[in-house]
Amino acid sequence: MLYAQIAIPKSMPRTLTYAVPAGRKIVPGQRVSVPFHNRLVAGYVISLEHKPASGLDPEKIKEIADILDDEPVFSQAALKLISWMSGYYCSPIGEVCRSALPPRFSQVKGPKLTRPMAPHEATSEMVAHPEFKLTGDQKRAFDAIMGQLRSPSPKPILLHGITGSGKTEVYLRAFEEIGKTGGQGLALIPEISLTPQIVKRFRDRFGDKIAVYHSGLTEAQRQSQWEKMRKGEVFAAVGTRSALFAPFQNLKIIVVDEEHDSSYKQDEGLLYNARDCAVMRAKLEGTVIVLGSATPSVESFANARAEKYLYCNLSERATGAKLPSIEIVDMRCHTPQKKGSLAAATIKAIEETLARKEQTLLFLNRRGFANFLICQACGHVFSCPNCDISLTHHMSPPRLLCHYCDYQVPAPDTCPTCQGCGIIPMGRGTQKLEEELTALFPDARIARLDSDTTSKVQSRKTFLSKMQKGEIDILIGTQLIAKGHDFPNVTLVGVVDADVALHLPDFRSFERTFQILTQVSGRAGRADKPGHVIIQTYQPEHSALIHARDHDYNAFFEKEHEHRKALRYPPFARVANFKFSGNNMEETEKAAETALKILKEKRKTCKLEKEIDLLGPAPAPLKKVRGKFRYQLLIKAANAGKLASILTAAHCPIIQAIPRGCRIVVDVDPINML
Ligand code: ADP
Ligand code: ZN
Repeated sequence: MLYAQIAIPKSMPRTLTYAVPAGRKIVPGQRVSVPFHNRLVAGYVISLEHKPASGLDPEKIKEIADILDDEPVFSQAALKLISWMSGYYCSPIGEVCRSALPPRFSQVKGPKLTRPMAPHEATSEMVAHPEFKLTGDQKRAFDAIMGQLRSPSPKPILLHGITGSGKTEVYLRAFEEIGKTGGQGLALIPEISLTPQIVKRFRDRFGDKIAVYHSGLTEAQRQSQWEKMRKGEVFAAVGTRSALFAPFQNLKIIVVDEEHDSSYKQDEGLLYNARDCAVMRAKLEGTVIVLGSATPSVESFANARAEKYLYCNLSERATGAKLPSIEIVDMRCHTPQKKGSLAAATIKAIEETLARKEQTLLFLNRRGFANFLICQACGHVFSCPNCDISLTHHMSPPRLLCHYCDYQVPAPDTCPTCQGCGIIPMGRGTQKLEEELTALFPDARIARLDSDTTSKVQSRKTFLSKMQKGEIDILIGTQLIAKGHDFPNVTLVGVVDADVALHLPDFRSFERTFQILTQVSGRAGRADKPGHVIIQTYQPEHSALIHARDHDYNAFFEKEHEHRKALRYPPFARVANFKFSGNNMEETEKAAETALKILKEKRKTCKLEKEIDLLGPAPAPLKKVRGKFRYQLLIKAANAGKLASILTAAHCPIIQAIPRGCRIVVDVDPINML
């Protein structure tokens, strides 16, 4: 008799044992249907054994009902990655399996996987070569990749290159080279709608020999792209984090572009970071991995420093274009309440840019009209009853809106607390900025791109192509405009309020600010015209701003590294965040206290008192979201091993101990601490 350990995509922490029907052949990685609570569900064979797990009565073990595919959906290597993720992120293995496949596979009556025909010839010979030769820096990076390709256990490569230094070109040449010998390549990018240009570059070079895979596709499209990869009809794929599991059999290279980007971390369901999992996949499969960025994460740069990663630097723009000049404008001597959001220097620079018939980007990471309304007389701030954050003032239509739960009320005329009529707007959003600019520059063509004006991918594309064609003079936008775009005629970038990002209650807020400033600055002067950047701030001496101004990543890193060391934050520690939420405040707080008690106990029995700090529980920075009260409890461990030990010991007992009305989630290596 043979028994199979089956993972089913439910929140079952472990696999379940089923008997393999006599005479049927099964291999790990195959999909099967199994009886579960009186119905059939799809499951994945994780392993096979000759004996059932101890304690199980063989009589009571149910049989597998059916085998769903001829072929395994997961290779041995994929199963290893899945098991690792399940353990590392404290997540049910069935959930990880489900995330790793196109959605249709989780249905019993989904598609059937058949044995592939002989693989198609999918080499990259269709290839349109650009004229230029690689620069010296690019050649060194390319050679480093080729060097690692020959190694049996390649080291990850950190490709640190300023914006426009030719990183993408290095990826393309490496893929081309690998394609010639039948190898396959996977490029991960942060967000498809924000970085359409990189997909276009791959398409232009490799045509239909690449798959494009992301969650914006329909289920049918995802299925067909996945099949193309599995059958070897394409030799490479470009995709967002879910492309991590691309079913290539002969993967030779993984590229993670903009490796620092927080969108690699999934923030709902399975809380994994696709960059970190890609590093693990590369390790398990002996594949080369290249992490590319103009502003590497502190963690990755520290790994390069420690020589865990190979470091390659591209320090100049490939086209010879100069980096923009950056100017910090001190807003403390400016009274915006009277004079509007823009400093005199910014207004003058926009005038000059318009006169030269060049384009301006204005970056303001806050949509809406004003940030919030406040009563001048009593200080009452209008906040969301569900979420405990201030409501944002919008003008068209006039209303107060919660950016978390979408709660809306008409903008009031009188204060509900003191009945006074002195309600004024504070802080300014993109909508207000647009109004100000229209008054200042009545003849300019002004457009605004944020999630209010462009919730659809298609309308974003229209905006961006108008910008490309020069049909917009001034584009105002939130972070949607900060990334990968390449507008050759943009020579002025204005950052309207650099302080918004600096003061989020998150240990990475300085790093984020430095990254975003560098990224938006990179939009200025991409082509032959020099670019200029103006950063408006109330804290002109802040190191994140000064080092961004000086294009000095290394100096920023030194400062930030010291800061993290002093506070024992990553990379000097590993963090996990236990997040509790519930309808009842006392009950939620009590659940968090119970978890703390269990963690303390386990810390003692595991003899980890010196290596593990427990912080909290405390109300989360956003105390209440969508009507749920939120608490968090932070674990800081000396290293990944210690963190894993305490999580393994405490996770299940905590889940069992907390009351039903309370939800608990563990976020390992959290990115968003709000
Ligand atoms: P990054 O990915 O670092 O932002 P890209 O690869 O997009 O940089 O390169 C920036 C620009 O420089 C692109 O227009 C690209 O075609 C061009 N380019 C890249 N490498 C070279 C080179 N060796 N010589 C001339 N132009 C180059
Ligand atoms: Zn709300």
